[in-house]
Amino acid sequence: MATDSWINETLYPDWGQRFLVKRELARVQSDFQDIAIFESTSHGRVMVLDGVIQITEGDEFVYQEMLTHVPLLAHGAAANVLIIGAGDGGVLRRVLQHPGVQRAVMVEIDGEVIRLAKEFLPGIAGDAWTNPRAEVIVGDGIDYVKRAPDAAFDAIIVDSTDPIGVGEVLFTDAFYENCARILTARGLVVNQCGVPFMQADELRETSVRRRRFFPHVTAYVAAVPTYVGGFMTLGWSAKDGTLHSVPVETIRARAAAAGILGQTQYWTPEIHVGAFNLPPYIARHLPG
Ligand code: SAM
Repeated sequence: MATDSWINETLYPDWGQRFLVKRELARVQSDFQDIAIFESTSHGRVMVLDGVIQITEGDEFVYQEMLTHVPLLAHGAAANVLIIGAGDGGVLRRVLQHPGVQRAVMVEIDGEVIRLAKEFLPGIAGDAWTNPRAEVIVGDGIDYVKRAPDAAFDAIIVDSTDPIGVGEVLFTDAFYENCARILTARGLVVNQCGVPFMQADELRETSVRRRRFFPHVTAYVAAVPTYVGGFMTLGWSAKDGTLHSVPVETIRARAAAAGILGQTQYWTPEIHVGAFNLPPYIARHLPG
């Protein structure tokens, strides 16, 4: 009898999720990581990097909408946006949905992730790759922010892997210091900060680091089904202390003007505002 084939996530040594595999689509050892893309029976196509679930067709909308629309609608006038990581193109696609964005620069260290995402996960990025406002660079995010000019960006979105391996540099003082330098006066950074029920250190340690370079540091949450362990946190670091508490009606008006209102599956103006109200088990990991 044919045995079902399963893929087990190996993020945690003693707990994790598994997917029933319909068929494997790609398996590549790049210069940076082990890349696997497979068809699951439950979540559509799935990308895994070094054994950690990165994105699934089934629930990518949750994460991409919250990582993108929250900072851009809070800012209200972001023209130049820097995206670090996000090799699947999902964040780039949603940044470009904002008509006020004139330039979206995406810096992904692993060209193989981009190549394989284009081939096997084309729906994630859609036509973002060829958008004239998009600039896609294969390179290390830490090098890019080191070389970028002062005040070049209004928002930086860091959609990286966890702080192990190539992603580690994106959680350092040097990275955040340069982010602060290359952001404009109302600029902000949002970054993937793990699932605090299992990865509280990631939130706690990066919040302390980010607080050294930004006056307003907090986090907001999203319930991403395949980032197991409850709420996923997105780190928030801003120069302007009003951005994380923009009134819901202002957010709604900006989303309507951008043509985003009613076009999302997870983000809404109420979810946007509510996401900053953190449960105590998460809030206690933020600096006072
Ligand atoms: N949504 C996922 C999560 O929350 O874990 C992340 C998805 S995305 C595929 C993560 C990307 O970050 C990967 O493609 C990886 O190659 C990229 N990355 C890791 N370290 C990087 C670095 N130093 N510079 C640029 N990109 C990096």
